[in-house]
Amino acid sequence: MCKAVVVGSLNLDTSITLERMPQPGETIAAQGISLNPGGKGANQAFALGRLGCPVAMVGAVGRDAAGDTLLESLQAAGVDCSCVARREVPTGQAFITVDSAGENAIIILAGANSTVSPADVEKLRPLLAQADCLVLQLEIPLETVASAAKLARSLGKVVILDPAPAPGSLPGELLALCDYLKPNETELALLTGLPTATVEQCETAARQLLAQGVGTVLVSLGAKGALAVTPQEALLVAPPQVKAVDTTSAGDCFTAAFALRLVEGETSLQAALEFANTAAALTASRPGAQASIPARDEVEALLAAR
Ligand code: ADP
Repeated sequence: MCKAVVVGSLNLDTSITLERMPQPGETIAAQGISLNPGGKGANQAFALGRLGCPVAMVGAVGRDAAGDTLLESLQAAGVDCSCVARREVPTGQAFITVDSAGENAIIILAGANSTVSPADVEKLRPLLAQADCLVLQLEIPLETVASAAKLARSLGKVVILDPAPAPGSLPGELLALCDYLKPNETELALLTGLPTATVEQCETAARQLLAQGVGTVLVSLGAKGALAVTPQEALLVAPPQVKAVDTTSAGDCFTAAFALRLVEGETSLQAALEFANTAAALTASRPGAQASIPARDEVEALLAAR
């Protein structure tokens, strides 16, 4: 029986390292290539599974090798993939080129992710009914995200939305369905039109989202940790100090780890944030996307050592 449901994207990420970016019409040699399972939805489901939460993924991939790879990765983390549809379109893919200066250029093919529809969500009712929490991001159609949030709330479930990739704005109706919204500083600035360069500015911007009906805003602040803003308080929690190697999927791990502690009944916001920061800091300290996400005992060990 799953305790958390993730509705979202699955992408195969192809990273190509280059000396420099090609000009239009030019052919150049690459230094290396790596293929990694990704997509914000899949990363969050993977993290929930790795951290020990009974979790189901809902989304779509194509009937292709990329789809097989993504499902195998999630299943290896213990994620129930029986609600990931296989469609007659390519699996979602991201092509990431990185030059020797660390500058990147990314091409995204939404592929099967764009086929996840409100009709798919309606089929989720029995799955959601047994879960405690729904985790959402914005790499599938917005109307699907909104209908999933609506269904979860009608069933009395907790809704967590990670508003990435950064939207210009979000409908007030969707914000009002979010118990938790987890923007980073950039996403918070885009969502509110307010500056977010300092913690004080982040708090002010987060309060604007509370006024629109969000329950709690969790602003992830990279090496500074996370700021939780509720109608009653603002709580800044620092992460353990780590040497950041690759922050890919650190935000996804943060969202998943926080969701896990909610599902487990954690009532202290401070404790849930400490757990989420610790899991995410470990992710940032290792290379890779899903491959960098820690297991539960690694997070507990680092928490105990603090
Ligand atoms: P996103 O990837 O969504 O932009 P952030 O960069 O804010 O998210 O990182 C998410 C979380 O990962 C942070 O809240 C923090 O817990 C952890 N984290 C990221 N970078 C570091 C770092 N350099 N040191 C420690 N923790 C980090």
